[in-house]
Amino acid sequence: MKPASLKRQTSSGGVIYRKTEDVVEVALVSVRGGRFWCLPKGIVDKGETPELTAVREVREESGLSGRIVDKLGDITYWYYIRGENSKCRKTVYFYLMEYMGGNTSQHDFEVDEAVWYPIDEALQRVSFRGDRAILEKAVSKLREMGVIV
Ligand code: ATP
Repeated sequence: MKPASLKRQTSSGGVIYRKTEDVVEVALVSVRGGRFWCLPKGIVDKGETPELTAVREVREESGLSGRIVDKLGDITYWYYIRGENSKCRKTVYFYLMEYMGGNTSQHDFEVDEAVWYPIDEALQRVSFRGDRAILEKAVSKLREMGVIV
């Protein structure tokens, strides 16, 4: 069998937060019939900056608009593209975003559900280690900013 060909993808996404009473909440989306819970993200289009992609994808996937307040870093993972015998190396940039408006009921068809979770619960719920590491960075930044006390 021929060795798998290699591809590269770059995506960008966000940790969008809001504070209600004393609880800081972040939005997660579920995909693949609710099997996985992830941070909202998507492919960086040609000519688009990762910042613009993050704002656009968070709005599209979760239904929420936010403004970027800081960078959170990036993660890299590999996956196989079914039916293509190819392997993809994907890098995803993440940004911390303050919630400005919109509603999770306006999430797009690419996700099954978009839900606000208290940040501690979101840390338990995310399916992938990389997303959890990004959420942990968001907790540190939100502490530094005095949003989490
Ligand atoms: P995008 O949202 O960037 O348009 P996509 O929905 O086409 O991407 P991914 O979400 O990257 O694709 O999913 C491709 C594969 O990688 C799936 O098998 C998925 O379960 C897995 N995957 C998704 N996020 C992560 C992650 N943070 N760490 C490891 N594997 C992941």
